[in-house]
Amino acid sequence: MTNEMWEAIVNNDSSYDGIFYYAVKTTGIFCRPSCKSRPPKRENITIFKSADEAISAHFRPCKRCKPTGEKLPDEEWISAITQYIDRNYMENLRLAHLAQISHGSPYHLHRIFKKTTGRTPVEYIQMIRIEHAKELLICSQFSISEVGEKVGLHNTPYFITLFKKLTGVTPAHYRQAALSQHQGGHRL
Ligand SMILES: [Zn+2]
Repeated sequence: MTNEMWEAIVNNDSSYDGIFYYAVKTTGIFCRPSCKSRPPKRENITIFKSADEAISAHFRPCKRCKPTGEKLPDEEWISAITQYIDRNYMENLRLAHLAQISHGSPYHLHRIFKKTTGRTPVEYIQMIRIEHAKELLICSQFSISEVGEKVGLHNTPYFITLFKKLTGVTPAHYRQAALSQHQGGHRL
């Protein structure tokens, strides 16, 4: 079990629902991460990727969080994925990977994501990356290519093109404009 998973269990973090399940050796029961039952001792936990795997290992589903219950509605499913993107935007995120961790096919994920958020998964990832790049351009001394790398866009020309496409200006201009605004503020 990773620290990330442990944190999710302790905080009843529903954004991890469907991503993993945890079983408790001492009770023989398994739960969704969001289950409100008292957090078990860390050493008693076994992690499973699916409810089926937990059942195969002879654990019983929790009556409270019903981990084998109905499939997550689309919105909850997509919100778990957007939250995953929000946390991992700097990684190499591919649709196939997102589909794998969210237990759906890439085609289905793409379609439901677009239907629910109005954006494709790729568009959403790009938007989040550019939002974080804006912050770094203003609040850090990183070079343009370093900013790109920090938000998962390792190809600098592509980073600049994408930034301009979404904001209307290049990263350098964006930083310059923010800086001169800042200095102007000081003069007042
Ligand atoms: Zn439970």
